[in-house]
Amino acid sequence: MAEVAYVNASRVFPGTPPVRAVDNLELSVADGEFLVLVGPSGSGKSTALRMLAGLEDVDEGAITIGGKDVTNTPPKGRDIAMVFQSYALYPHMTVAENMGFALKLRGVPKAEIREKVAEAARMLDLTRYLDRKPKALSGGQRQRVAMGRAIVREPSVFLMDEPLSNLDAKLRVETRANIAALQQRLGTTTIYVTHDQVEAMTMGHRVAVLKDGILQQCASPRELYDRPANAFVASFIGSPAMNLKTVPLTPEGARLDGLVVPLSRSALDGAAAEGLSEVTFGIRPESLRLAAADEAGMTMTVELVEELGADAYVYGSVRIGEQSERFIVRVDGRTPPALGQQVEVTVRDADEVHLFHPGT
Ligand code: ADP
Repeated sequence: MAEVAYVNASRVFPGTPPVRAVDNLELSVADGEFLVLVGPSGSGKSTALRMLAGLEDVDEGAITIGGKDVTNTPPKGRDIAMVFQSYALYPHMTVAENMGFALKLRGVPKAEIREKVAEAARMLDLTRYLDRKPKALSGGQRQRVAMGRAIVREPSVFLMDEPLSNLDAKLRVETRANIAALQQRLGTTTIYVTHDQVEAMTMGHRVAVLKDGILQQCASPRELYDRPANAFVASFIGSPAMNLKTVPLTPEGARLDGLVVPLSRSALDGAAAEGLSEVTFGIRPESLRLAAADEAGMTMTVELVEELGADAYVYGSVRIGEQSERFIVRVDGRTPPALGQQVEVTVRDADEVHLFHPGT
């Protein structure tokens, strides 16, 4: 068990200009925590994880594991176990041999290895497969062997780099729940990299969102959803994405076609103090609804309806000033509007409106 910390850690790849793949990362992961690093491709997630593993240099700052500075410690001395996207299983070894290999290298007695492998296999439902070679396993089973190999080492920290990306959608959902439950049971500090925000939100105790090597926000899934620090986080978390529009501010609030969304006094005062005449206005599809007949709304022309059973997502355009703007609205799946229809849309609750600085 161990706490992990990035202390203003950077990784700068040489080039013209140099790439700050991880830029001044300041982040602590508590003992026993499941922390997810999430961000689009190229945002520095893998580099950050590899720095923790000792597979990538730390050019500036430091990394500590269990309070000990490991910035210059080779991977072997870090007491971590990594699960790779590719699983990296040895094809000529059986499942049991794959799982026990690290212990064998350490010189652990055979009987103890057998016991630890058997216990991990029980946890992962792999007991029946211990004598098989990896090629005789399904993708999901191979993934579990990769997990098992990490578990038997009883490391202080698990590092996982997109461990579910080779599984089909259904298995991915099952496996993410299993990994989260297993982590809970073992209580081992875990850093988990994914580009999938749903995976991040469902698995992480906290989620750290990266963009261009820079940490945007690190918070609980709830906090990220309710209070995104900037428009990037707002658009990255939630599916379909938050509607984000640059809108003019009026003394009453934000004007969207026929709809004036009242904004809190503090939001308006804050914007006025900064001399902002427009803001980036954000509202999630689930925070919009179709207006009742006697309610004011913005007029949306329906262009696409995505039916998901209980809900439907309606994509349409709204005229805002000279522009035609795309909005997504969640509606009751039993009564979706028709393509081409004009509907009036309003905000469920003005408290669910997010305002951001233009350009964040
Ligand atoms: P992610 O895991 O979020 O997709 P990476 O950590 O792989 O992102 O990459 C972050 C940035 O660093 C990218 O711009 C990538 O091109 C760059 N990068 C990664 N590895 C190297 C390398 N070995 N040499 C040069 N640039 C690299």
